[in-house]
Amino acid sequence: MRASTLRDLFILLAIGAGLFAGGYFLVKRIGQSDFDLSFKVSYKQEEQLGNLFKDLIWDQFPTEKDNAADSALQQIKDRLIKALDTTAYRYQFTIIKNEQINAFTIPGGNIYVFSGLMKAAESPEEVAAVLAHEMGHAEKRHVVTKLMKELSITAIVTILSGGDPSTLAQILKSIIGNTFDREQESKADQFALELLEKAKISPKNLGRFFERLNEKNLDYDENLEILMTHPHNDKRIDQVRKYKTKNDFKPEPFQIDWKKVQESL
Ligand SMILES: [Zn+2]
Repeated sequence: MRASTLRDLFILLAIGAGLFAGGYFLVKRIGQSDFDLSFKVSYKQEEQLGNLFKDLIWDQFPTEKDNAADSALQQIKDRLIKALDTTAYRYQFTIIKNEQINAFTIPGGNIYVFSGLMKAAESPEEVAAVLAHEMGHAEKRHVVTKLMKELSITAIVTILSGGDPSTLAQILKSIIGNTFDREQESKADQFALELLEKAKISPKNLGRFFERLNEKNLDYDENLEILMTHPHNDKRIDQVRKYKTKNDFKPEPFQIDWKKVQESL
């Protein structure tokens, strides 16, 4: 990574630490523990932060590009974005070559889906459901809030350590690895259900994907976004079941050859 990029990252980390400190004292004063730390981070700052992490990801993970899977992903993305009324993000969706069934979102609307998830999904609609959920975390500003919380400790350590690259990688790891809390998951699911309906994709696909994970009896890692644990998955499936689409809702299937997509991975 370039030295100037590192320097920019330190500046941003320092800003983050400052914001956290400001937020913390405000929390103490108004006596709320669940304080929204995202409120002071502008979308522009969030985009800058995202760009720095994008460089790190680019260095560390191989991606899938220019194949049937990538073009399917871009098609799914276009449909979902068209269904958003407004957004402050310039979304980018990227496939990472990795067999894990997972997806994650870094600041600035950058969403990463693992090839393992594309293989586990049985239709483009199921992938769309997962992506809509990730967009929910961005739109509800869960991603930046989580990062601000983590910067409280990590940022200071990083700055004091003079920018040890492994510490930077550690920050990235925690962005990728840490799960959101259950309320945030439920809000992202609700966002996904509504967005899928607007995009003319059956919201049931979200539940279908969770059911598939349960059936597969996968080796669960609770620290992975999306997977969560069995009882929790069941609650999420329930939330999908209770969601009612409008009476005149009619899904429009994607014109994507899913077999070809999976073969390209
Ligand atoms: Zn989530």
